[in-house]
Amino acid sequence: MSPVDATALRDASRDGTRSLQATLDEAFAAVARHDGELSAMSSLDEEGARRRAGELEAKRARGEELGALFGVPIVVKSNLCVAGWETHCGSRLLAGYRPPYDATVIRHAREADALLIGNAHMDEFAMGSSGENSGYKTARNPWDLARAPGGSSSGSAVAVSAGYVPLALGSDTGGSVRQPASFCGVAGFKPSYGRLSRFGLVAYGSSLDQVGPLATSVRDLELALATLAPGGARDPHDATSVSAPSSEAPTALPGLRLGVHREAYVGAGVDADVRERFEEALELLRANGAELVDVTLATSELAIPAYYVIATAEASTNLARFEGVRYGQRHEGDGSLAGMMSRTRAKGFGPEVKRRILLGTYALSEGYREAWYQKALDTRAAMAAEYERAFESLDAIVSPTSPTAAFELGARTRDPLAMYAADVMTVPANLAGLPAVSVPCGTVREGGSELPVGLQFMARRGADERCLAVARLYEEAHGVPWRAPGGFARASVGSEGGGR
Ligand code: GLN
Repeated sequence: MSPVDATALRDASRDGTRSLQATLDEAFAAVARHDGELSAMSSLDEEGARRRAGELEAKRARGEELGALFGVPIVVKSNLCVAGWETHCGSRLLAGYRPPYDATVIRHAREADALLIGNAHMDEFAMGSSGENSGYKTARNPWDLARAPGGSSSGSAVAVSAGYVPLALGSDTGGSVRQPASFCGVAGFKPSYGRLSRFGLVAYGSSLDQVGPLATSVRDLELALATLAPGGARDPHDATSVSAPSSEAPTALPGLRLGVHREAYVGAGVDADVRERFEEALELLRANGAELVDVTLATSELAIPAYYVIATAEASTNLARFEGVRYGQRHEGDGSLAGMMSRTRAKGFGPEVKRRILLGTYALSEGYREAWYQKALDTRAAMAAEYERAFESLDAIVSPTSPTAAFELGARTRDPLAMYAADVMTVPANLAGLPAVSVPCGTVREGGSELPVGLQFMARRGADERCLAVARLYEEAHGVPWRAPGGFARASVGSEGGGR
């Protein structure tokens, strides 16, 4: 068990050995202590959380049944609608936008008696791999303040890594839960497409987007999955959500067949030290009885180009709704309606969002659609088929989560292609709709800092429980490595917590 996890905190809160107000004291104290430096939070709702904690304490005193996240403080990426909270998606365009309703996953978290404490920093409209594309501020990696926490769910990963909360929600369109989890040394999960409702998640690439939890252990990711889609039921508010009978989950590593696509890691330019951690993780899996099988996934090298055509195409249409009439900010132009819309978008969107709207519009335009968008769709179909075939004889596919550990802030901001390359291991799961999880698998030393490395497991579409169980079995073999990175004392539960 990790020093503080959501499951342990929930249990202690339920049986009354843990006061909910004390949990909040610690969470808000950790934010007050560290967030000036880390910039993980974009808003806090201490009043709302305190009020809710009071209601929940009363519920416990009445002897009522208590929810699966009873007393667990959580942080929410700021593209998930929470009624009344400023949900600006990291964009100046949505400054001041307060949705009148809760996203479905938020409703489920509330019904499970979680304490929502605030929303988290992110790359604007979830576009980015470093947290540097926000219209507001730049979040920092708690392991090394000069480095990126990863993106786009930067704040959610930092909030867990720095010990503000044991559980956070993010969204993953091409790796935005798993990659920051990997950079910050926590666990992060992207469910199968359709598994968690997207109702109330501000859309980036609708056919790719999934809500995903970040936590200190895989066990907590399992808890979150079960809680955010109770009974695996579909959400009638999201036409793409599916009902998912829970998949069969293995209980031991012996007998498991895990695919390893070695050529891809060479091609993807995986750093030598990350590769070392990866090879050690494979060795550990093998030593504990898993069978490792080499696989070739020929479509891998097309993943980045296909993803960046499809994601930008979908973004260009999804973001058309932000025009100064319905949401957020308005900037008057030359007095005409078109002038107002154009000025609102020119002033409201940051450079990366504009780049993607241009790219996506180009890929969808008459004469180019066949050459770009259709080819990307064909690639995507071929990739999904290739993975489906591979999973006929495999329980999971294992890879590094990202080719590198956390890079320095500013290192890739002037080169979008270098930034996009960070997603090479994560985008296939989104294109093929597969569940995928990142778990910490050790650290590397770079420039005097110790930095975490993530290990990714992917499973067949719909096999979310299997995906998480395989990762948990790895985690059990390895030991839950979570610890507060240097200098950050974790808000503790009982006596075990505390940083170094
Ligand atoms: N880094 C990828 C992108 O910029 C993934 C983002 C995400 O998953 N939201 O599109």
